[in-house]
Amino acid sequence: MKVILLRYGEVFLKGNNRKFFEDTLIRNIKKSLSQYDFSLKRLSGRYEISDFDESQTKNIVNRLTKVFGLHSLSIATKVESEPENIIDVVKQLDLTNKTFRVTTNRASKIFPIHSMEFNKQLGEIILNTFEGSKVDLHNPTVEVKIDIRENGYTYISTQTIKCADGMPLHTAGKGLLLLSGGIDSPVAGYYMAKRGLTVEAIHFHSYPYTSELARQKVLDLARKMGDYLGSIRIHIISVTNIQEQIHKNCHPDYMINLLRRMMMRIAEKVAEKCGAGALITGESLGQVASQTLESITSTNSVVKMPIFRPLIGFDKLEIIDVAQRIDTYNISILPYEDCCTVFLPKNPITKPKIDRVLKEESKIDVEKLLDESLATEEIVDIN
Ligand code: ATP
Ligand code: MG
Repeated sequence: MKVILLRYGEVFLKGNNRKFFEDTLIRNIKKSLSQYDFSLKRLSGRYEISDFDESQTKNIVNRLTKVFGLHSLSIATKVESEPENIIDVVKQLDLTNKTFRVTTNRASKIFPIHSMEFNKQLGEIILNTFEGSKVDLHNPTVEVKIDIRENGYTYISTQTIKCADGMPLHTAGKGLLLLSGGIDSPVAGYYMAKRGLTVEAIHFHSYPYTSELARQKVLDLARKMGDYLGSIRIHIISVTNIQEQIHKNCHPDYMINLLRRMMMRIAEKVAEKCGAGALITGESLGQVASQTLESITSTNSVVKMPIFRPLIGFDKLEIIDVAQRIDTYNISILPYEDCCTVFLPKNPITKPKIDRVLKEESKIDVEKLLDESLATEEIVDIN
């Protein structure tokens, strides 16, 4: 019988809370496979997925590799632990012209043959069965793993597939991600979800200066992130009024800094309302004028909530790498305008002084603009 063996990572370490983490992990696995029939069993230190439609193996594996908290998986053949059964399976592998190594793990000492001895026996059988096969203990193309478990069954596999690692989603509270249409913020959301945080998103637009396509792009990004984050709620809020007022009343070089301060305030209010305890941004130190230490100090100072910036020490190329891996990159690089590119100053201030920021900010009615913006909120749920 074909099964999928799942190994988990850090959940192991969780002492007294382990049950909470494991139960959540299992719930997340079931949710990610909700469109398939299957059974899930707990073995010691791993899970076994069985009774699924084998023609769907690839799709099922693809989904499982995106469940945070899982470390790796193997597609295995499960047989009762008798040497003949194992030999039968091994003879059906495809090892022609391949280098290989056999690794037996005898967790059940009832099995009559010692692991070293069994490795040797199976190795000889493979050499005799497959033309051009060759033993390579150090760097084989295929590692034939024979896992003889205490439950009376043996699992034979030839490939270990890496999963997403991290902590199970929904074990670390909730964060509100400031989601632009750019490359960075989806990656930031991914990293925080990887630590178990439930992620909700907030997106600011400047319609009609930004287009309907820009909005659709953000919804598409959220849908893509859903592969890892499950369903996701997006709060969509207009900052058109705010940008117009800043543009009309304040020094142009302060546009972005003032706008960012308004965004932070709005985000904190929305976070409080939806039960999120932190904000998340895709900022990376020094990447642009609004992300220098001085700019971050200014935007940070208007909120009390912690702001998580998982990409703060990342290079752009490293971020792009991850964006490609999680498949958000191709959506992010579509050309539609983000609200920050509207009214863009020629010389955005890179080292805003706080007294000057406050002086510029005093030229707009912060509270009134906040209320007006919050009143434009629209909520979209993506499943
Ligand atoms: P990104 O690629 O995430 O857009 P960026 O390199 O374009 O980042 P900025 O435009 O300076 O950088 O934005 C910094 C962070 O501010 C973003 O990562 C995001 O978290 C937040 N942000 C910027 N614009 C918006 C927006 N329109 N709606 C929501 N959040 C935004
Ligand atoms: Mg941006």
